[in-house]
Amino acid sequence: MPRPSLLEQHPVPPVLPEVTRRLRERYLPDPPTPERSAEPLDGLIGTILSQQNLAVITRRQFDGLKLVYPRWEAALQDGPDGIETALRAAGGGLIRSKARTIWNVLHQLQEARGSLSLRDTRDMDDAQIRTLLEGLPGVGPKTASCVLLFDLARPAMPVDTHIERISRRLELVPQKWNAVKIERWYEQILPRTWAERYTFHVSVIRHGQQVCRSQRPTCAECLLQNLCPSAGIFLSGQEQPVARQKTATPRRA
Ligand code: SF4
Repeated sequence: MPRPSLLEQHPVPPVLPEVTRRLRERYLPDPPTPERSAEPLDGLIGTILSQQNLAVITRRQFDGLKLVYPRWEAALQDGPDGIETALRAAGGGLIRSKARTIWNVLHQLQEARGSLSLRDTRDMDDAQIRTLLEGLPGVGPKTASCVLLFDLARPAMPVDTHIERISRRLELVPQKWNAVKIERWYEQILPRTWAERYTFHVSVIRHGQQVCRSQRPTCAECLLQNLCPSAGIFLSGQEQPVARQKTATPRRA
């Protein structure tokens, strides 16, 4: 017997359209305009840097790298230790492993494609781009989804720590689902347009940064309070302390 699809396991909650509408009106009332990066490889490297980093440090690290290496060929030639040195000047965490991931990505692109550019991905379909990106060392589905959404204006739906947390608190998804499963579910249920997915992604993240924070969410001021099954728990102070989560938000959200 075939396994039920994610949608069969967990149908769309009736509250989702209203949640989406309120968040959009609060955080992104004007329709966004799709933009594609001049060089999606820049976006990929920026996304690697954004893992467990604040946006401001990600920006500083990326700018620092581009200052030292105006062309990625120079970073490849310099090696992982050189990239690490360039990143260290900008501060931030996981510098050693990120430097190695970036160098490995550059190395594989050069070996496999003979070029340090991803501009040709604009002419590929989404599945081809995913196969290419997820075949690179250290690049997983979330990073690929970020490049698709932010650099190639494709209707992807990366799920970061804010989206994961808020989806659970609002009981949009089962509590035991992980980020990968939540992303696959959203993939199936959200309208397949770039603007809808971009708006949902960015507005949920802004809500997570400003109101529904990991620690002490301000439910009393939340525009979703009357829709949220977790509000009563937080308002009554019955919540259990949770381990502090590191920020893992895509760089442009
Ligand atoms: S009511 Fe509280 S827990 Fe629910 S979405 Fe708002 S801030 Fe988050």
